Amino acid sequence: MRWTERQRAMLGAMGITLWGHGDDVAAEPVGVATVDPARAEGARTAAAPRGASAPPVAVAAASVAQTAIDDPAIASLDWEPLRARVAACRACRLCESRTQTVFGVGHPQAQCMIVGEAPGENEDRLGEPFVGAAGQLLDRMLHAIGLTRAAAPPQQQVYIANTLKCRPPRNRNPEPDELARCSAYLHRQIALVQPRLLLAMGRFAVQSLLESNEPVGRLRGRLHRWRDVPVVVTYHPAYLLRNPADKARAWADLCLAASQLQG
Ligand code: URA
Repeated sequence: MRWTERQRAMLGAMGITLWGHGDDVAAEPVGVATVDPARAEGARTAAAPRGASAPPVAVAAASVAQTAIDDPAIASLDWEPLRARVAACRACRLCESRTQTVFGVGHPQAQCMIVGEAPGENEDRLGEPFVGAAGQLLDRMLHAIGLTRAAAPPQQQVYIANTLKCRPPRNRNPEPDELARCSAYLHRQIALVQPRLLLAMGRFAVQSLLESNEPVGRLRGRLHRWRDVPVVVTYHPAYLLRNPADKARAWADLCLAASQLQG
């Protein structure tokens, strides 16, 4: 494949170096020098990786209202009432252990909306999605296709939201009932943003948007739909920090997203 200087710079920003002779080279994924994977997501990768069994969380049953999974009122809320509803949410046990809810960030009418998994320790503390090591990689990935969460012309800005608005204790995997109870918030955020493209990062975003248990590796590389909105599936940045060999595939997914946004 031939790479322009701009593409080389973009790949470098993602931590992908090129090998081979001349221009006809392949992208070889390598580790990200500026990020220590052991620190990625705080306890998520070190002490309690996703998938590790965590002790059951004590739930004060009386204090957690098991509200309807799809409260129809949520689907008509505007931004501020929606934000307030999320902040006050007690629909599942995660409300017991969160520091605060993590609503979302970015341009409210972004063309591209990123859907992640769940807040980690840093996000729970700061109230913003993707602020840890995975967030730094996400920012570089977005930069590689000319997008940003920072101030910029509107067409370059993204909106970032998680599937879960509360941190699972010790960064354990989200439970199916937690995903189900939180999905109405994400769906309303998407309906308000009305993005031209959704980028679903990781299997829990996929489960929530596509209602599929297929692995990311099987779903990436082609367009899906959430209602009418095209969805590109790719690996979660925290996964990429642990599995840098898949960065080249993530780059291909970003190229698919970029071409869809340009089309
Ligand atoms: N991983 C996510 O999916 N979301 C965050 O906000 C942080 C890490």
